[in-house]
Amino acid sequence: MTEITHLEGEHMETKKKRLDNDRLERIVAEARRKQQQREQGYREQALKIYPWICARCGREFEGKKVRELTVHHKDHNHDNNPADGSNWELLCLYCHDNEHSRYLDEEYYEEGSADGEEEAASTYRPFADLEDLLKDKE
Ligand SMILES: [Zn+2]
Ligand SMILES: [Zn+2]
Repeated sequence: MTEITHLEGEHMETKKKRLDNDRLERIVAEARRKQQQREQGYREQALKIYPWICARCGREFEGKKVRELTVHHKDHNHDNNPADGSNWELLCLYCHDNEHSRYLDEEYYEEGSADGEEEAASTYRPFADLEDLLKDKE
């Protein structure tokens, strides 16, 4: 009897784990989608407010070239997006890179892939922390 109970317990454990993984994947996919929407949102906003000029090197952008212009968060907190744009700075890819090479925080990678969805899978992992968080719960 104890043997059977034990097996059932194990079976349920496996099933529960699988469900957790599905749930986790959904949560992460959903969070990622929202994050991308939000990034698209503040990028559009920033491009409306500011002239398409890199705040560091003064390079001007127009048309398709504007893809090379990225939104930098002055306080490095990409959750801080005041509507007046006071936390944003438009930087070209190079200057943005320079700006962040001093910090090497994760923020840059999130911003950098905002409009480069094809690189999303390998470098775009803003929710690594969330995954860890959820994993710890097991
Ligand atoms: Zn620049
Ligand atoms: Zn930045």
